[in-house]
Amino acid sequence: MKTAPEFIDSVRGLASQVYLLGDQVTDPLTHPMLRPSLNALAMTYQLAHDSSAAEWMQARSSLDGRAINCFTSLHQSADDLVRKVKALRLLGQETGTCFQRCVGWDALNALSSTTFEIDQAKGTQYHKRFLDYLKRVQENDWVLNGAMTDVKGDRSKRPSEQTDPDMFVRVVERQRDGIIVRGAKAHQTGAVFSHEIVVMPTLALRATESDYALAFAIPINTPGVIHIVGRQSSDTRKLEGDTFDVGNARFGGHEALLILDDVFVPWERVFMCGEHEFAGMLVERFAGYHRQSYGGCKAGVGDVLIGATATAAEYAGVADAAHVKRKIGEMIHLNETLFACGIACSHLGKPTASGTYLVDLLLANVCKQNVTRFPYEIARLAEDIAGGLMVTMPSAKDWNNPQLRPYIEKYLKGVAEVPTEDRLRILRLIENFTLGSAAVAYRTESMHGAGSPEAQVIMIARQSDLGKKKQLAKKLAGVVPD
Ligand code: SF4
Ligand code: FE
Repeated sequence: MKTAPEFIDSVRGLASQVYLLGDQVTDPLTHPMLRPSLNALAMTYQLAHDSSAAEWMQARSSLDGRAINCFTSLHQSADDLVRKVKALRLLGQETGTCFQRCVGWDALNALSSTTFEIDQAKGTQYHKRFLDYLKRVQENDWVLNGAMTDVKGDRSKRPSEQTDPDMFVRVVERQRDGIIVRGAKAHQTGAVFSHEIVVMPTLALRATESDYALAFAIPINTPGVIHIVGRQSSDTRKLEGDTFDVGNARFGGHEALLILDDVFVPWERVFMCGEHEFAGMLVERFAGYHRQSYGGCKAGVGDVLIGATATAAEYAGVADAAHVKRKIGEMIHLNETLFACGIACSHLGKPTASGTYLVDLLLANVCKQNVTRFPYEIARLAEDIAGGLMVTMPSAKDWNNPQLRPYIEKYLKGVAEVPTEDRLRILRLIENFTLGSAAVAYRTESMHGAGSPEAQVIMIARQSDLGKKKQLAKKLAGVVPD
């Protein structure tokens, strides 16, 4: 297992073609808009070496029994799945942001069972290749950037019907040693600090779409890989030099648009190529794991937001107001409901044919459906309690101006015993979660990450056996004999 400093050293100079705000970034590690993202990822290494967290952050390798970082493990039991949710909650609490390493973990687990079942059905060699790759992932303790969401072009059209055939990642040439792939993937969380990219299809595919039935892994510095980092609300505050206005100055996340410009992938790194019948299985399993993930990480971030809100109430002198207590209680209820579903879908996990455990898909989808709603309500209650000052207060530059500071100190003070600066810092943290750069992960990603709400509604309907429910009702109503 790498330590946090070893991880940071290992990604130094790795991603070569990175663009941000129109310019090529030569050293992402030191870029003030990207460094908080590196710090959050590094926490996944630091906590694996922390004895108080090792119970969740370490796992046993299914290949050789060695202790490994949990993020490179295959789930060998329902208990492993439960531990995963607890690890993600802990990391959410410690970073207050997206720590960016789960997509790759979920991709590994989905690929392990799907490659096994492709081989069983088709006599291919994908699972062995996958296990060889997994060995390297575990030995090197890599960050994997899971790449699923295609850019999709015209949503009314299938991949093969698009005017531009590159709207979904596809194989453009099969060679003796490997394949050439082309396309783009959107919303790549943690992209530029990853060692590897693991690409999967984005939807169930038909026989005519086999060029899009692709799964493979490539090093991030493979020629033809380009990252255009997306901007986030309030992101340039990180360039202003003062930490005050950022809210959470140490930790953050980033997403990028990933371009695969005719990239060569050797066969030993290809885990699906043309088996369109299995694209749906891979997508469904990956989505199940990632919908489970949110029951951990969002609850962890929610813990910090609830703590910040309760602190803001104290600093303003309203902590004992009955409605404030009730609202904080409501926030906790919503947050624990997210966690409860993550734990429940893990407990009911079952082994797949490969031995890797899969979450209960019905409850994982219920978990994510709650995630599309509850963080918004928690954020609404946080804004309610924080008050308007959160969005109207002066900047750090004003605070640092000796002429203005006495006024700010005097007039924005809450309770006498708390310094004004502490009050303003807590409000900036709430702003960061609800409207600032952390809202990318806490709000909009809660809506669309791991699939938009409608995707879960479809899965819930498919998994819930409505026919049986109707039978139960008919039996009790005397419509059918008992
Ligand atoms: Fe992990 Fe949550 Fe970030 Fe997804 S949003 S990568 S599950 S921390
Ligand atoms: Fe996500």
